[in-house]
Amino acid sequence: VYNYGNNQTVWIRGIDSIHDIEDFMASLRIFMLVAFLVLVIFVGIISYRMLQRALKPVDSICKSVDQIRDGNNLTNRLSIPEKKDEMYKLAMTFNDMFQRLEESFENEKQFTSDVSHELRTPIAVLISQCEYMLENEQLSEDDKMGLSIILRQANRMSKLISQLLMIARSENGTLKLSYEEIELHMLIEMVSEELEEKATKRGIEITIDGAKEIYISGDQSLLMRVFLNLIDNGITYGTDNGWIHIHLEKQEHNAVISIEDNGIGISKTNLEKIWNRLYQVDQSRSHGMGLGLSMVQWIVKAHHGTIHVESELGKGSKFIVHLPFTL
Ligand code: ADP
Repeated sequence: VYNYGNNQTVWIRGIDSIHDIEDFMASLRIFMLVAFLVLVIFVGIISYRMLQRALKPVDSICKSVDQIRDGNNLTNRLSIPEKKDEMYKLAMTFNDMFQRLEESFENEKQFTSDVSHELRTPIAVLISQCEYMLENEQLSEDDKMGLSIILRQANRMSKLISQLLMIARSENGTLKLSYEEIELHMLIEMVSEELEEKATKRGIEITIDGAKEIYISGDQSLLMRVFLNLIDNGITYGTDNGWIHIHLEKQEHNAVISIEDNGIGISKTNLEKIWNRLYQVDQSRSHGMGLGLSMVQWIVKAHHGTIHVESELGKGSKFIVHLPFTL
């Protein structure tokens, strides 16, 4: 409004387009939206990084615990962070737990080893006393039968105790292998002769063929246990009037011994489990405790060898042992 003389007033009206302002506002909105999104993403990334950094010690503790679990080695410990914060407490708690676990496992192994050892003498006395009494001609048939049953069970107990003792010793590292030169063919013949009577009772024929004069460096009594167990299993899980074929072969660095039977066989689902301690497919058929094969596997590994099985349910099983000539 403009005033000039005679009270005259002039109105000036201006017209301007608001189009530009609307455009500006729209751009501003888009800009704000993009800026907001960028900010959200930025804050997200920063928080993730910070969280990751904060949780890194937890991650490293988890990895170390996994390593201890996978390596089955309870003597390992977590490294303790220098800063005495929550991570320090967590690592200390884990280490304390590992310490207690290790101690309780050690005590258990020592206990098994001590008990087995203490049981050996009374069982040996029981066996020799039964054998001595059975020699007495004046015993009635009933008494003889009773004593034979006691003797059989005592022998079985003695076998189980020696398996337990061996496993306990192998675990606590007190089982030392004494190496000597062994001729495998002869060793296997000796073992088969020992089991001949048991096999004949079921009409099972044991045959040995293949390479002779295979010399390896090994612990004779432990290797005898390997073949005793495998052939004994071939008889126990064999069929009446069946067979067990033992084949020996020389490879470049290894002796290969296969023990095959035409017995009940093992189903695919049980093939992996038979090596586990105390695992038995059919408890009623077994005369043991399911310790034999885990002991066999330990001995073969201690000789840097390998053992595996091929089997078909209802047809039979073949255990194949590879033993290096020299360690
Ligand atoms: P066990 O004392 O029961 O014989 P082992 O450790 O020697 O224990 O064997 C574990 C299980 O593997 C046995 O209970 C049996 O079910 C199975 N097994 C072992 N050898 C044979 C075989 N030659 N034929 C069929 N099954 C077998």
